[in-house]
Amino acid sequence: LNNKSLRSIRGKDKIRREKGNIMIKSSIKDRIKVVKGDITKLEVDAIVNAANSSLLGGGGVDGAIHKAGGKEILDECIKIRNKQGGCSTGEAVVTTAGKLKAKYVIHTVGPVWSGGQKNEKELLEKCYYNSLRLAVENKVERISFPNISTGIYRFPKDLATEIAINEVSKFLQDDTIITEVVFVCFDDENYRGYLEYIGKN
Ligand code: ADP
Repeated sequence: LNNKSLRSIRGKDKIRREKGNIMIKSSIKDRIKVVKGDITKLEVDAIVNAANSSLLGGGGVDGAIHKAGGKEILDECIKIRNKQGGCSTGEAVVTTAGKLKAKYVIHTVGPVWSGGQKNEKELLEKCYYNSLRLAVENKVERISFPNISTGIYRFPKDLATEIAINEVSKFLQDDTIITEVVFVCFDDENYRGYLEYIGKN
């Protein structure tokens, strides 16, 4: 994917977003899966981590990924941090997956919810978009996402679900590399919400 086609994807995204179009085509739904469980156990090419901007690890899914993947992941995170000073909210970086079954971990930093007036929605969209963009750049075919920002960062779960599914669907519409996106829900509320939203749209 070159810069020109990336720009064109972004352009199309803008138009769709303005129209508020959320109909998900069945050909796209076929490439989306929702499962309940622990993301560190998944056999996919890349696992997305809901990291924080320090890239030094934390609680929740971040802690679980570093614990299961081992020191190699943190070592690469530290290298990235030394080079570019961590990772801003909405951006993503890629490292090895260490001992995990995946090849890569894509670390993205979700927004902390603080009422909705601080660009939280757009920043969460960017997390999904930038993670997928990095995945395609690394020829990743199967990728799994946790429910970014819905834990310690307190993003409302229903809104986060809508953003995650819409953003991924829009990306898949223009992409031919990614064959499978797995949303891994850790808690019942997210799991039920994802199934319901996909069922309705
Ligand atoms: P954030 O700071 O972005 O909110 P958290 O890790 O606190 O990140 O939470 C993000 C989501 O990840 C939450 O819905 C939480 O339940 C979920 N989660 C926690 N541990 C795991 C895990 N091992 N696998 C998948 N999801 C997890």
